[in-house]
Amino acid sequence: MLIAGNWKMNTDLPTARQLASAVVSSVGDPNPVRVAIFPPMVSIDAVFSVIHGSPVLLGAQNVHDGEYGAYTGEVSAPMLRSAGCHYVIVGHSERRQHFGETDETVNFKIASSRANRLVPVVCVGETLSERDAGREKQIVERQIRAGMKGVAIGSGLEMVVAYEPIWAIGTGRTATPEQAQEMHALIRKILIDLFGKTSGSDIDILYGGSMKPGNAAELLSQPDVGGGLIGGASLKAEDFAAIVAAAVKAV
Ligand code: PEP
Repeated sequence: MLIAGNWKMNTDLPTARQLASAVVSSVGDPNPVRVAIFPPMVSIDAVFSVIHGSPVLLGAQNVHDGEYGAYTGEVSAPMLRSAGCHYVIVGHSERRQHFGETDETVNFKIASSRANRLVPVVCVGETLSERDAGREKQIVERQIRAGMKGVAIGSGLEMVVAYEPIWAIGTGRTATPEQAQEMHALIRKILIDLFGKTSGSDIDILYGGSMKPGNAAELLSQPDVGGGLIGGASLKAEDFAAIVAAAVKAV
């Protein structure tokens, strides 16, 4: 089980340090649940200094698919690895929507992350119109199969998938536990098909989309929901801690 806090383009350096420190204080050591935070790039190094030595793991919100070179403004997987990152979010719907990411660029980013020993948190999910048209399963299956094309893993701990229905992100509207479970079961089937029974069964499949202290326990109790990717609620240390506590109860 993994609880991941995506801070998006929020916090400056002092508030990132404070929030990271509050997360460290609220997470037991050892903790039965993996906890990771994803600060803005500019705060990665400072947050690493705060969480280093604690069970809280560090992740980045984006990565370029190359390693070094003339790509002004970009950050690569070896750079993130050297800065202490364990995870990287790949293919978040906001990047697909606002920055032109496609299944193909997601695939390149996953490959580069794996080659540099970062664990990609691969985001998939349908729009409201795709769900209304009954195409949500087809969309998610395409995103996973195209994103993972040619990707190999040694164990389920080397990959994370986050199902984030776009209509539930930042809207306060959450998938019902049944809707989440139905999609997660399909994702599990696809992962077993791609990576084999052992690795495919061990990959954490996170739910993301307005997860909060009030709905976390029910979502996390679904058999194929292996954690949460939390946006808004990860910016409030108490709310994030309450979601981690719900996850601890669910394991
Ligand atoms: C996200 O953007 O990954 C997310 C789940 O955001 P929120 O929790 O704010 O819906």
